[in-house]
Amino acid sequence: MKKSKWARLGLAVLVSFSLVNCERDTEDDIFEGNQIDDAKNAHACIAKWDAPNNEKATSVKAKQWETGQTIRVKFLNGNSFVQSKVRQYAVEWEKYANIKFEWVSSSSSANIKIGFREGQFADVTGSWSYLGTDSNSHAHSMHFGWFNDNTTDTEFRRTTIHEFGHALGLIHEHQNPVAGINWDKEAVYAYYAGPPNNWSRAQVDNNLFRRYEASISNYSEYDPLSIMHYPIPAEHTLDRVAVGSNTRLSDTDKAFIGTIYPFPDTGDICAGVAPYSGSRSYAVGDQVTYQGSLYQRTSNGWTNLGECGAVNNDPCAGVAEYNSNRSYSVGDQVTYRGTLYQRTASGWTNLGACGG
Ligand SMILES: [Zn+2]
Repeated sequence: MKKSKWARLGLAVLVSFSLVNCERDTEDDIFEGNQIDDAKNAHACIAKWDAPNNEKATSVKAKQWETGQTIRVKFLNGNSFVQSKVRQYAVEWEKYANIKFEWVSSSSSANIKIGFREGQFADVTGSWSYLGTDSNSHAHSMHFGWFNDNTTDTEFRRTTIHEFGHALGLIHEHQNPVAGINWDKEAVYAYYAGPPNNWSRAQVDNNLFRRYEASISNYSEYDPLSIMHYPIPAEHTLDRVAVGSNTRLSDTDKAFIGTIYPFPDTGDICAGVAPYSGSRSYAVGDQVTYQGSLYQRTSNGWTNLGECGAVNNDPCAGVAEYNSNRSYSVGDQVTYRGTLYQRTASGWTNLGACGG
């Protein structure tokens, strides 16, 4: 079952002038006392919204690119090293989303236009991106405020994948409608009231506590491991639950972006199945991929269902069993006693036996 989490896409449509601004935090301020080492030196990413809080959403799909689209990307400045690092990590998304990045010269027209903090943008701090197709309307649509020749690969990976997530239309995971973060609101207000943010309580409400309405989304799951999650120090939650700095795409990130920009169904038995994760627990019937094969969980281990890339010839694959409590329309297909049937105006046509 694929999870759909539309609310990640919903932010841009809530506001007219949406800009996701990922500010660099001074390390010792925000993460002092944090138990999670990885989060200590992380550059926290903060969403800033210029429009009123009560703007109505229209459609969460409004900022999406076309599935299969080639998105043109160019650099406005930056040396060849930092440019190559952004390219290296941005293309991670292409493995899981049916979109293509075409890297064009700085004089070409492009959808995404990337700046670094130097030259004409020497004063532009923070790292940020406009959401999805909003990028089209801005001459400088994405910015990396802290990349330089001394940046680590982990930081290049974390921030590049995160900003390109925004550019593909993803919002911050901590604003997921089903996110269960037990904020210590007074601590958070107090922190953001200080420099460098100097935010009012309303701004904190909007940037951190505001969640996207479930009514405009298809959210089913909150993923604290998402690359789109904001690191949260323990002292900002009442239960002292911290969220570390995520530096890679999570399994849910990979599966979710594939539901927004799906690849055509090639019949690959592994299509849409997440790789095995040693940190997850699995129930009987769960499927994973592992070393190029598809496995299914049994009560005492795993069954190998075959190599990935194999075509599933079973005409009944993905077709639900006949259910007498449902009503069916002409054209609907069901399986019944090992056979595939299709609804006609007067009854059911037998389309043949299940099995590949
Ligand atoms: Zn961000």
